[in-house]
Amino acid sequence: MADIIQLLPDHVANQIAAGEVVQRPASVVKELLENAIDAEASTVKLIIKDAGKTLIQVIDNGKGMSNTDARLSFERHATSKIKCADDLFQLHTKGFRGEALASIAAIAHVELKTKQEEDEVGCALIIEGSDVISQEVVVTPKGTSVSVKNLFYNIPARRNFLKSNTVELRHVIDEFQRVALAHPNITFAFYNNGNETFNLPVSNYRQRIVNIFGSKTNEKLVPVEEDTDVLKISGFVGKPEFAKKSRGEQYFFVNNRFIKSAYLNHAISSAFDGLLKNGTHPSYFLNLTVDPQTIDINIHPTKTEIKFDDEHTLYALLRAAVKHSLGQFNIAPVLDFDR
Ligand code: ADP
Ligand code: MG
Repeated sequence: MADIIQLLPDHVANQIAAGEVVQRPASVVKELLENAIDAEASTVKLIIKDAGKTLIQVIDNGKGMSNTDARLSFERHATSKIKCADDLFQLHTKGFRGEALASIAAIAHVELKTKQEEDEVGCALIIEGSDVISQEVVVTPKGTSVSVKNLFYNIPARRNFLKSNTVELRHVIDEFQRVALAHPNITFAFYNNGNETFNLPVSNYRQRIVNIFGSKTNEKLVPVEEDTDVLKISGFVGKPEFAKKSRGEQYFFVNNRFIKSAYLNHAISSAFDGLLKNGTHPSYFLNLTVDPQTIDINIHPTKTEIKFDDEHTLYALLRAAVKHSLGQFNIAPVLDFDR
């Protein structure tokens, strides 16, 4: 009898995990932006070249990492965000799986610079395909900068599978907008091939939407507010006459996380019953706040799907809240810029 099972070396395991977490440049953008937010940054800058194929850099002014943590952050299942399984139902951070940096470092050239407030100097780390090339002391501002270069350099099949720069850039912008919409209290900047594409100062929600989608959006927005024992809803729906043929501006966030839910999308669309021209879709920017104990986000590595304890109640509340707002607006349009 011959034994044939082996434990895979770390770099191979990381590369396999990367297949789930990193599909394209936009996936890296999402993970790095979320890490900056979890680090409590108030300013976040995204820099990309060639739609992220050659460079994706995120610079934040968050809490930074110690030297030891900087090295550990690239290990798989290494996280500061949860300590035990129960914490999965108390999540107040975007991350918790501890696999994004390990996955990214397995399939790209990564440079990290980080410094904590209390330290004089920071740490610079270079990692290529999971191998640490160097770790040095550097002078760097408080916060963290992560540069990801030459994505999929060691997996030609994945690199060739990437779409045109136009398509990949569209995905990157989508991710950036989702994160920026969920956090109007954070300043975001986005540079694409050296050009400033977005510059979003701290603002209220309406203003953030307008800063992203243009000043014409302002008059389209109808506020939706609801506060019950089970959930809080806040945000805006687009007036019916601005509904589009394409499913463009449909943003649904749960506890500040962009979520895809066909079921709750239906709740919103059905609240527009009779108000929309055939074949058009409403736009919406809605935030749900629920007790983290009543949801499970650990369904898919990209964390864009969610399981609610009581989906039916949420459906009913969401539909009623949107209907109510649309009804009110029919009587008296609300265009108050302060909401
Ligand atoms: P997760 O976010 O799921 O914990 P990651 O691989 O994305 O896993 O990051 C691993 C750890 O590295 C985080 O838990 C955090 O402690 C640290 N880290 C990553 N990015 C940053 C950052 N921008 N600022 C401070 N710490 C960071
Ligand atoms: Mg993370």
